[in-house]
Amino acid sequence: MKEEDQTVRILLKISGEVLAGEAGHGIDSLTVKRLTESLMDLVSDGIQVGIVTGGGNFIRGRDLQSIDRITGDQMGMIATVINSLALRDAIEKHGGNAVVLSAIQMPGFLEFFSPRLANDFLERGYIVIYAGGTGNPCLTTDTAAALRAVQTGCSMLLKGTKVDGIYDSDPEHNPEAERFTQLSFEEVLKLDLKVMDAAAVAICRDAELPISIFDIRDPVNIVRILSEPSIGSIVGGKDSW
Ligand code: UDP
Repeated sequence: MKEEDQTVRILLKISGEVLAGEAGHGIDSLTVKRLTESLMDLVSDGIQVGIVTGGGNFIRGRDLQSIDRITGDQMGMIATVINSLALRDAIEKHGGNAVVLSAIQMPGFLEFFSPRLANDFLERGYIVIYAGGTGNPCLTTDTAAALRAVQTGCSMLLKGTKVDGIYDSDPEHNPEAERFTQLSFEEVLKLDLKVMDAAAVAICRDAELPISIFDIRDPVNIVRILSEPSIGSIVGGKDSW
């Protein structure tokens, strides 16, 4: 952890699947409300919070068989905008300040992402939601999360999932599966552990930005993971966060 007088800035990746809750599709308002409560707790603790939302609860470009991949990916990126707007709405209803910065130009609708603008909002205590992925096809929001975390100088990239960390085999199918508490970027890439896109892992490795994978089904863990990293799995050096 950083020194107490240093501001902690984190980037949280929330997949579309998480936002969908039990339904598995669309946006579950109760799930979003519960996530928002924990996000507000982080802000109350003085933590600067950036968020990248996925879009898989609506569309993943690669899954659209009858649609050209580039077009499908554009549709997927727009799905992340829908999720980002839902999250912004929930935060504002909860009395918080949030802004959506988009990688896709949407004048009159959303502000276009730039690191300077993001830093400005983060320093003013806004939760900054990065929409539109990277703005480029053939990538995912994991890569967008890694990029935005590096671009805004975060000390940690948190990925909330439906599993409490990284296992040596699928815990849903293998009751003997063991959870790693810490492992290196190279191990994740070499073992092809699929916790995040390889591109995202490589970006974090090069920037020496640790990744924390944790169970976000209980949103309280969003706060807990910062003081108790062992409830999840950490990729990268412990010294750097
Ligand atoms: N996408 C893209 N470029 C990006 C980010 C996302 O083309 O930089 C598209 C891609 O089609 C992807 C979809 O948006 O499948 C939704 O993102 P993702 O699959 O990462 O969402 P998640 O699985 O996290 O909900």
